[in-house]
Amino acid sequence: MAPISKETDLLVIGGGSGGLGAARMAAGKFGAKAMIVEAMRLGGTCVNVGCVPKKITFNAAAIAEAIHDAKAYGFSLQETKPFDFRSFKLKRDAYIKRLNGIYERNLANDKVEYVHGWAKLLSRNEVEITLDDGSKTTVRANKILIAVGGEPTKPTDTIPGAEHGTNSDGFFDIDTLPKKVALVGAGYIAVEFAGMFNALGTETHLFIRHKTFLRTFDPMIQEGVTAEYERLGVHVHKESTQSRVDKDPATGKLTLHYKDGNGEGKLEDVDHLIWAIGRTPMTKNIGLEEAGVKLDEKGYIVTDGFQNTSVDNIYALGDVSGRVELTPVAIAAGRRLAERLYGGAQFSAAHISYENIPSVVFAHPEVGSIGLTEPQAVEKYGAENLKVYKTSFPAMYYAMMAPEEKGPTKYKVVCAGPEEKVVGLHIMGQGSGEMLQGFGVAIKMGATKKDFDSCIAIHPTSAEELVTLK
Ligand code: FAD
Ligand code: NDP
Repeated sequence: MAPISKETDLLVIGGGSGGLGAARMAAGKFGAKAMIVEAMRLGGTCVNVGCVPKKITFNAAAIAEAIHDAKAYGFSLQETKPFDFRSFKLKRDAYIKRLNGIYERNLANDKVEYVHGWAKLLSRNEVEITLDDGSKTTVRANKILIAVGGEPTKPTDTIPGAEHGTNSDGFFDIDTLPKKVALVGAGYIAVEFAGMFNALGTETHLFIRHKTFLRTFDPMIQEGVTAEYERLGVHVHKESTQSRVDKDPATGKLTLHYKDGNGEGKLEDVDHLIWAIGRTPMTKNIGLEEAGVKLDEKGYIVTDGFQNTSVDNIYALGDVSGRVELTPVAIAAGRRLAERLYGGAQFSAAHISYENIPSVVFAHPEVGSIGLTEPQAVEKYGAENLKVYKTSFPAMYYAMMAPEEKGPTKYKVVCAGPEEKVVGLHIMGQGSGEMLQGFGVAIKMGATKKDFDSCIAIHPTSAEELVTLK
């Protein structure tokens, strides 16, 4: 192995979405001398314990749903064996391992020096790396990028036994399809995981603090998806709190003591309890305070629109900067930063725009959202300056199904001003994940309702409803 450089132009701490995006562009495109330090696995959260294994599991859940739906179309599928979750999990792990290798080769191709170890700032220009064998080395860098991401937030230590539960990282270690699970949380992760478990046949209990989940989304989405989960058989415990978790030492099964809108209760024989109550930035004990890097009250690194921190030549981006916690956001922020730092005059103002970022929740059904929710638009423009178009219908996919088996599709387009500029688009229904990207381009370009209407519909699709709204 080549000795580790003692000096570099750009030292990136964290080999996840954002760090890789920045390092590869800095070295591969602009020829900067770049080093990336990763303590765990290359690819970070998204590749190892996030988007990628999640989407593969979502695909498995979608296949389970299609097998169920096939009956309505006249197929008589006889499953002779239950879903082989263990083989599925091993195959999914192997795919991720292949990706780790591809990421390492990509770094080599772009001439980024890759060091496996734990990095800590010693000063504004020095980073100490603890290598796998426990030895330490110090590297001087002209510029340092902190892209250390986050980790699942731990439940408060006021819930005795909370440690018997796991989190989203632990979800990907589960190798037997559980009979019964409990999830606590109301965001992307809790909703996605609950939907997948339920579709795969696990008895699924979702504990939320309020009456709906996905509360950062438009009310149509919150109410629509919460109701749909209940219709699909997810046990949604609304207005709930947890008071204790017991573990049976013989069986390993858990009992969750809780209170919800219906009073006190206990859920027994739980195979896995998953806390999905948000994520916490990994900013502890990496020398940030000592180097003078300002953190906010939640521990996120404070950055301006150009990813500058409070210290010259130290930058931060991705989940650790507490903005929109999505992989493409971290990648784009990393690439724009590399362009600005190493791309010369033409890129001197390069930065990511955090406005109108499309995002999808891989729920059941999928949810897509871009721009302002209706309440946000009312606050920004005033209700009198808005026109909101809505539709709700069963997709043609359900034509062959009994009324009680039909899933909902709901769309909302929020328009502002006399020109009816589209400032928010919210969709739930089959295929929303693939639909949203194109509408995102249109909205980024400043599309108006008239532009939507002038686009000829594609028939028969669900998406056509978005260009024929009245
Ligand atoms: P990360 O990808 O977390 O990378 C940070 C890296 O830094 C890690 O590899 C970590 O090991 C390393 N590190 C930390 N501290 C140190 C240190 N001191 N020294 C060396 N290395 C260090 N986003 C989407 O867009 N779509 C999705 O479908 C989606 N699904 C998700 C599902 C789940 C279950 C989760 C948890 C997240 C999901 N996300 C999704 C969010 C997405 O994964 C993150 O927004 C993205 O990974 C953030 O990238 P990042 O570079 O900021 O951090
Ligand atoms: P989120 O921040 O999305 O949601 C967590 C939610 O859990 C909170 O909003 C809150 O909702 C609820 N909550 C917080 N504390 C508690 C508590 N003590 N008890 C019960 N509920 C609680 O976090 P996630 O962990 O779901 O995901 C982290 C981020 O990762 C997401 O924000 C997203 O950016 C990204 N991600 C993206 C995905 C995608 O693009 N498809 C998929 C997965 C993750 P409330 O106030 O309503 O109680």
